[in-house]
Amino acid sequence: MTSKAVEILCSACGADTLLKREPRYDGFKKVGERLLCAACGHEFANLEAVPFKERKTARLFTDADRLPKVDVFEADEKGRNCRHCQYYLVNPFTQRCGRHFHVVQATDVCDAFERKEEAKPSDGGDGRQPPRREDTKDHEEKA
Ligand SMILES: [Zn+2]
Repeated sequence: MTSKAVEILCSACGADTLLKREPRYDGFKKVGERLLCAACGHEFANLEAVPFKERKTARLFTDADRLPKVDVFEADEKGRNCRHCQYYLVNPFTQRCGRHFHVVQATDVCDAFERKEEAKPSDGGDGRQPPRREDTKDHEEKA
């Protein structure tokens, strides 16, 4: 019975969290283990389905995949991506479209795209411009 903490990136809630193991009983007989997300309680069908942190990184993102992505963001400065849209909302866990109220990726392209205006002292637009955050790239990887 070891309960060593295993880091996962939950595929259900996206949290960087721990794998929770609970014994699974058939009557009084222990028949196995349930593998749960410690953050949202999502149950993984088996060990193969568990999004182990290291393994997921290796499987889904290679370094060759990740690094150029930053350049793509830079090059897309004039693009119609959600990250440049006034409806784009970022919080530490997810990115949402404030118009459609669904989760988006920074690189999504949307029919309803409307370019986010730069905050101007004299012309505040709708008056609730978020501060420009050029240092938020950490959050812009796919969750
Ligand atoms: Zn979860």
